Amino acid sequence: MNTRVLLDRRPDGPVTADLFRLDQVPVPEPGPGDVVVRNVYLSCDPYLVGRIQSVFPVGEPVAVRVVGVVHRSANPAWPEGTIVWGFLAWEEYTLVPGGRGLTAVDPSLGPISHAISVLGMPGLTAYVGAIELGRPTPGETVYVSSAAGAVGSVAGQLARLAGARVVGSAGSAAKCAHVVDVLGFDACFDHRAVASIGAALDEHCPHGIDVYFDNVGGETLDAVLTRLRPGARIPVCGQIATYEEAGDGLRNIGAMLRQRATMTGFSIYDHTHKLPAFLPRMSRWLREGAVVYTEDIRHGIETVPDAFVGMLRGDNIGKRLVQVSDDPTAG
Ligand code: NDP
Repeated sequence: MNTRVLLDRRPDGPVTADLFRLDQVPVPEPGPGDVVVRNVYLSCDPYLVGRIQSVFPVGEPVAVRVVGVVHRSANPAWPEGTIVWGFLAWEEYTLVPGGRGLTAVDPSLGPISHAISVLGMPGLTAYVGAIELGRPTPGETVYVSSAAGAVGSVAGQLARLAGARVVGSAGSAAKCAHVVDVLGFDACFDHRAVASIGAALDEHCPHGIDVYFDNVGGETLDAVLTRLRPGARIPVCGQIATYEEAGDGLRNIGAMLRQRATMTGFSIYDHTHKLPAFLPRMSRWLREGAVVYTEDIRHGIETVPDAFVGMLRGDNIGKRLVQVSDDPTAG
């Protein structure tokens, strides 16, 4: 049988695990040209909140990035056993009509789960935001919010490789220890424990902020605005603090004018053509230890709702995935 996680109803407030329900249907059979993928790693991403609020059909499995193995194939381009990633769903098996949208995963680049983490969308997002839009230079101060997460953990390390001094914030003492001791940031503060984010930024970025890699928006972004250095850059990657609220509460946007600063929103969907050049580069950084990556993996399809909502509330260190079947490459 194929166990699936369906969106049961839309939220009328914060996203909770009871918005989802499990069901079981027979494992799909491929028609001519079709492929059935046995899903191995399912992604949990903050952007799903917006889709759950208004896009995903109620009563259907939630569509996400997945790494899996071709289980049954009626398509010679996708032999059984091929490791693939694609936009599949929170379920154990997915029927892929015509094999469309699948991409082969090269296990020589790293663990296959990386195809939906550091060697996939979150990693490329970090690169585009931190390096192409942030353009950090040696000696500059870069601040990264959600620094222990899937994207922020890489963004800060890349800024540090570029020679910047990198400060992070994360939601617990354990996360901050990870950010400094494992990821090598220069400093990190617990945004949930400090009396004021502004005061914490004054302590850790005493000369101001040249680049702010914004993962959260809201109060944190507002505090950053009054601490920008001339010519500062703000790659606006995410606004997770406001996904479940109306408005962003910004009051200090005038600082952009005074500091001749640049704020650039970006979506990784506009940059996917960069993946082929990015993958060998990031794979080398990982092999050399220049970038360290953590995946926070839960196990079992039934854990998906809690794993997803837990990530939104901050219980993840690194990229939150759920493993739902055996990884054929795991040693
Ligand atoms: P993370 O792994 O960083 O997980 C989400 C984290 O957000 C939580 O662990 C929590 O960490 C933090 N968080 C939750 N609520 C708040 C809050 N109110 N204030 C501050 N932090 C909060 O997720 P990702 O790395 O996958 O995504 C990070 C951001 O990047 C998101 O905003 C996401 O939407 C965005 N994104 C944008 C892309 C693009 O194309 N522009 C692509 C991919 C992601 P903590 O405990 O530290 O608070």
